Amino acid sequence: MVVPAPGVKLDMACRCCGGRNVELVIDLGDQPHCNRLVRPDLAPGVEPHYPLRVGFCRDCTMVQIDHTIPKESMFTDYPYVSGTTKTLPAHFLETSKRIAAAYGVKAGDLVVDIGSNDGTWLKQWAFSGARVLGVEAAGNVAKLAQDAGVPTWNRFFNAACCADIRKEHGPAKVITAAGVFFHLEELHSVVEGIASLLDQDGVFVVQAIYLGGMVENTAFDQVYHEHLCYYTLKSLSALLAQHGLEVFEATLVDIHGGSIEAHVTRKGVRPVGDSVRAMQAQEIAKGFGEIETYRTFAANVLDLRKRLVALLEGYKAAGKSVWAYGAPAKGATLLNSFGIGPDLVQKAVEKNAMKVGLAIPGVRIPIEAEEGARPDAYLVLAWNFINEFLAKEKAYLAGGGELIVPIPKVKTYGKADA
Ligand SMILES: [Zn+2]
Repeated sequence: MVVPAPGVKLDMACRCCGGRNVELVIDLGDQPHCNRLVRPDLAPGVEPHYPLRVGFCRDCTMVQIDHTIPKESMFTDYPYVSGTTKTLPAHFLETSKRIAAAYGVKAGDLVVDIGSNDGTWLKQWAFSGARVLGVEAAGNVAKLAQDAGVPTWNRFFNAACCADIRKEHGPAKVITAAGVFFHLEELHSVVEGIASLLDQDGVFVVQAIYLGGMVENTAFDQVYHEHLCYYTLKSLSALLAQHGLEVFEATLVDIHGGSIEAHVTRKGVRPVGDSVRAMQAQEIAKGFGEIETYRTFAANVLDLRKRLVALLEGYKAAGKSVWAYGAPAKGATLLNSFGIGPDLVQKAVEKNAMKVGLAIPGVRIPIEAEEGARPDAYLVLAWNFINEFLAKEKAYLAGGGELIVPIPKVKTYGKADA
């Protein structure tokens, strides 16, 4: 992991504006694809490693990584299943009800979800009587949705896909994209498709990890090869405007450790709300359009590494066991960037059966099923779900167990938190 001197340019065209003025802010080193879990007996280091570098576009302010692993290699077989946490279905139901009330979604209207995963969000629309359609590139999770009765197309969402949807189902009243909009290799084709598929007064609701939240939380672990772009309201608006779309409402929501929820329509169809002007003012006040902000962010990541590694070395010196609590994709970024391997974190435990028996790539921490035995402490890689975990682990904490959270600050929860 390296923080470069100012002025180093990445050899790339900006994913948003096409300019060649993208400056490197942090280089997390060559890393394997975080969701390509490996067999634990695979020879050391043979999994492919790719550059993981974050740049800031001085022209349009889009923060992005430069290296693209082809989408077919990342998204056609996917181990992340939305339904495995309790937090997400409840969040999606609340969001659906809010959208339905605000925009008058009625029985028979079409709701399309981009990157619909196992159908977790679309299932929450049942109350409305709307027709739903998911588009999911990963065959294995698309099948889970289909088996659960959620109509799902197994293909990549892009302009051609949207033309086919419109032909077969008509225009969409609502298009949603949660936790997927930063994944898009075909970024402009996707936005063009959304613009063509939306009904005249249709609304596109996008939830994406908010770059402002990443900066404030030092949540650099959101940087991985699947996440090509990191949005502020300003950079998202710059992208949408190129296709005649406009954000008319914007809020921050407490999901994935801080996300932006933007409501988007054809330019001029709905008045731009105060929420947009308020967020624009906040972003200016907080310097989210300035490269200096990202240089400070990079320095904070270095500081986090120093603190976390020192803490884990202390546990090791005291002969205490530490296991990772879950093996989320972002955990691979944190562990590989900081060089934390099995000597400091002996294993990861998971309830997602698709991950059990494999190992976190790069650092090769083995993933095992959650069962009886407990370590002295867990490293909570999915730190954004810490409240869910604290509630679930009261007995463990009361009995002397500890939960270590790496982000936003290195913090240990123990008996006092039970
Ligand atoms: Zn740009």
